[in-house]
Parts: sequence; structure tokens; C-alpha cells
Amino acid sequence: MQATKQQLIDELVTEIVDQKVCADLAASATQLVVGSGNLDADVLFIGEAPGKKEDEQGLPFVGASGRFLDEMLAAADMKRDDVYITNIVKYRPPNNRDPLPEEKRAFWPYLLRQIEIIHPKVVITLGRHSGACFIPNLHISREHGKARRVRFHKHEFLVIPLYHPAAALYNGSMRQTLIDDFLVATEAAGNCA
Ligand code: URA
Repeated sequence: MQATKQQLIDELVTEIVDQKVCADLAASATQLVVGSGNLDADVLFIGEAPGKKEDEQGLPFVGASGRFLDEMLAAADMKRDDVYITNIVKYRPPNNRDPLPEEKRAFWPYLLRQIEIIHPKVVITLGRHSGACFIPNLHISREHGKARRVRFHKHEFLVIPLYHPAAALYNGSMRQTLIDDFLVATEAAGNCA
């Protein structure tokens, strides 16, 4: 019998743990945060790394940034269950520092497998660190909200880089930019074959 998507995600988690990916981060984190939501979603959000609340609860985007992500979803008449949400790096970096390039590189093959399992129409990256993993030399101020077709191995999908929702917490005009970009992204997902 063919494995279900959930079984494939569970296997991925087991491999990350067994292969001791980023053992230092694993040692300082409470738990691995693989992602949450609908494994059949058309839209996959990819943030940077779990923060304190995410580390405590084992779920992505459950802190202040997550509340704004919920607002973006509501603007498109969507719920968390309509999308899947994950991060590049699956353990919380200490003191919420940015993930290091070698940490992003270590998780990259697992992230690609996760994308293959979910098979979304559109990948929405949150923040420039996440966006730059898919779009080299990304200039987020020029390219936010713009769709790009990318190909990794045999898998092709649309990537739409967005600012990180945390940016909207400190900058009011950024709120509308993020919501507008998200509406463009959901429309792009709807228009994909
Ligand atoms: N910021 C991220 O990039 N990811 C989370 O899960 C939470 C905050």
C-alpha cells in the first residue's frame, strides 16, 4: 500500500532526528517543529525558523507573527487548515538569532522532500532569508509579491517571496503590503493548473 503524506512526513522527522541534523540546535531546542496544516494544500508557507512560542508548542507561527499570518489568511477568506506552514530550519536557534547559512543548508534536502510530499501549487516564502533560499540574490524590496517559476531536481513550482510578517508588527504600512502580496499569491495559486 502507498504511504500516506502524513506517514511520509513522519518518516522525514525520524530521519532528521536519526541523522542528527543540526545536533547543536536540537540540543538547545525543546523540540523539532516540522510544520502544520493541510498536507494537500495548494499553498505552502515557508518561514525561517521557530521562535520561543513555536519551540514551546511544537507548531510554526503561533506567536505574534503568527497572529498577523492569521489576519493575512482571513483577508483571503482562508484558514490555517487551507494551507501548510513550515520553516527552513526546524529547530529554534538560541536567543532567536537568524539561522546560519550552514543550518539552512543542512535542512535544505529535507525541505525539498517536504515540498515534494505536499506538492503545492505555490510556495510563499516569509522573509528574505527564506526567499533567498529559492531565489538567489533576492532583492525583497523589489521582488516581494512577484511570482517566479523555479525548478529543483524534477520538481517545478511557483515561488512568491513576501516580507516576514514580523515586519508588519513594527511598520503599519507593511501590513497592507503583506496583505496585498498575499492576495496576489492566492490568486496565482488559483490560476495554476
Ligand atoms: N518566525 C518564523 O520565521 N517562523 C516561525 O515559525 C515563527 C516566527
